[in-house]
Amino acid sequence: MLVTLTEMMQGIAEKNGAVPAFNVFGYEDAAAVIAAAEEVKAPVILATNKVALRYMPLQVSGALYRSLAERASVPVCIHLDHGDGFETAAEAIMSGYTSIMYDGSQLPLKENMRNTRQIVKMAHACGIPVEAEIGAVGYSDPSLNVEARLTDPGEAKIFAEETGVDALAVAIGTLHRMEEQAAPIDYGRLADIERLVTVPLVLHGSTGVRDDDLRKLAATRIGKVNIGTALRMAFGKTLRSEIQAKPDEFDRVALFAGPMEAVKEEAKKKMLLLNAHHALQA
Ligand SMILES: [Zn+2]
Repeated sequence: MLVTLTEMMQGIAEKNGAVPAFNVFGYEDAAAVIAAAEEVKAPVILATNKVALRYMPLQVSGALYRSLAERASVPVCIHLDHGDGFETAAEAIMSGYTSIMYDGSQLPLKENMRNTRQIVKMAHACGIPVEAEIGAVGYSDPSLNVEARLTDPGEAKIFAEETGVDALAVAIGTLHRMEEQAAPIDYGRLADIERLVTVPLVLHGSTGVRDDDLRKLAATRIGKVNIGTALRMAFGKTLRSEIQAKPDEFDRVALFAGPMEAVKEEAKKKMLLLNAHHALQA
C-alpha cells in the first residue's frame, strides 16, 4: 500500500526501529526491495536520487513505483532524495511521490531555511511531508566538491522549528557512497540533537555504517536510514559474475534474476539490522 513518510514513521522511534530508504533506479531493484519488505513484513521507502532523476523522468519513475507500492502487502513510500529546489519538488508531487527531500545544505543557513519553508508550505498544501538537511553529509569522492559539515545541534533546533519540516537529515559522521562499513558515528552529537529536535531524524550515507552501529542507531530517534551503495554493489557485482558464468546468455530477464535476488537479500539484511519490521508489530 502507498503511504506518506509521516504515516510510515509514526511511532517507529518508540518501537526502537528505523525504516530504510533504498535508492532505486528502475523496475528490477524497486521490485526486489519491495519483495524483501514483504518477506520481512516491514515498511520500506523507495528513493529517487539525482543520478536516477537524470536517468528516468520523475513522471515515469513516479508511475512505476506508485503502481508497485499499490500492489504491495506492506506500506511503501515513494521519496525524492536530495531535491534541488521548488520546481523539482512540485514535479515530484505531481508525479505521485509521497515524500520530498529538499537539500539546501550547501547554502548559507538563512537561504536553506527560506527555501525549505517555501517547499514545506507548498508540499503541506498537497498533503506531502518534507525532509530537509542541516549540516552537510559529504561524499567519499572529493571530486564532487560537496562540503561536509557536522550538524550543530542548536542550529538543528532553530531550523526544525522555523521551517516546519517533517524529518531532518543530520550529519553525525557518515559519508555518501562509502563502500566500507567504517563511518565513525558521533553519538554525543546525536544525543544533543535528540534533546533539542522533536521531528524524526534521518541518517544519510548509511552503507558506510557498521552493522552494530545500525542496530544501535535504530534505537535512537533516527527513523529513516538512507542506503544506496550497498544495493548497487549487490546488483552490479552479481550481474558481473552472472555474465562471466553464462557467456552465451543474452536474455536480460535471465541475467537480472541473480542480481535481483542479491538486492533482495541485502535489503532484508539491512531491514532486520534496523528493526524495520517492528513498525508493523503491535
Ligand atoms: Zn543522502
